[in-house]
Amino acid sequence: MDLYIKDKVGFRMPAHDKEKRCVTCKEIYHLHMFRENKTCNVCVRKDKRKKYRSAHPKEIGARAILKIALKSGHLIKQPCEKCGAISNVDGHHPDYEKPLDIIWLCRAHHMQEHSRLKLLSDGNA
Ligand SMILES: [Zn+2]
Ligand SMILES: [Zn+2]
Ligand SMILES: [Zn+2]
Repeated sequence: MDLYIKDKVGFRMPAHDKEKRCVTCKEIYHLHMFRENKTCNVCVRKDKRKKYRSAHPKEIGARAILKIALKSGHLIKQPCEKCGAISNVDGHHPDYEKPLDIIWLCRAHHMQEHSRLKLLSDGNA
C-alpha cells in the first residue's frame, strides 16, 4: 500500500505532468491555465469576449463611438460622479441607444452600478 502511494506521488511530480494541451488552440500550458476543462484560460477568455460581443452588440457599438469621441476631443473624461476619483474613470452608458450620453464613474463605482442594474433587470425578469 505504501509503495503504491509513493508511486502515485512520484508519478505526479514530473514537470510534464503539470502541463496539458488545450483542445482549442493546441498550445501546451501549465495546468494552472486550465480550470477543470480541456480549454486553456486564454481560449476561455477569448470565447467569453466573443459571446459577450454577440450578446451585447449595442453596448459594444456605444463603447466604440465613445472611444472615437474621446480620441477626437468631442468628449473629455470627467472625474467619477460618485466619489470624484480621476484615475481609472470609465464612461458608463445609462442608455446604449445614446452612445454620447455618458456618466463618468471610477472602476469601483462603475462595477457597483452594473451590479445594481443587473439586480434590477434580474428582479424584473
Ligand atoms: Zn487554448
Ligand atoms: Zn467612484
Ligand atoms: Zn457601464
